[in-house]
Amino acid sequence: MKPRLVPCPKCGTLTPFSPDNPYRPFCSARCRTDDLASWAEEKYRIEGSDASEEPPLPPPLD
Ligand SMILES: [Zn+2]
Repeated sequence: MKPRLVPCPKCGTLTPFSPDNPYRPFCSARCRTDDLASWAEEKYRIEGSDASEEPPLPPPLD
């Protein structure tokens, strides 16, 4: 079975989406690290500016 090729979210390089690629869907460790770093930065910024968080709903009682 041929692995599906997906474009790397960071650089767009077509990358096999398979267990052989530990960085999937990224093409390399570098792209993955870069993307996670920018994502974490964004999350940090959002959490810093907006502290409102809804409490989880209790499970419905039947
Ligand atoms: Zn890449």
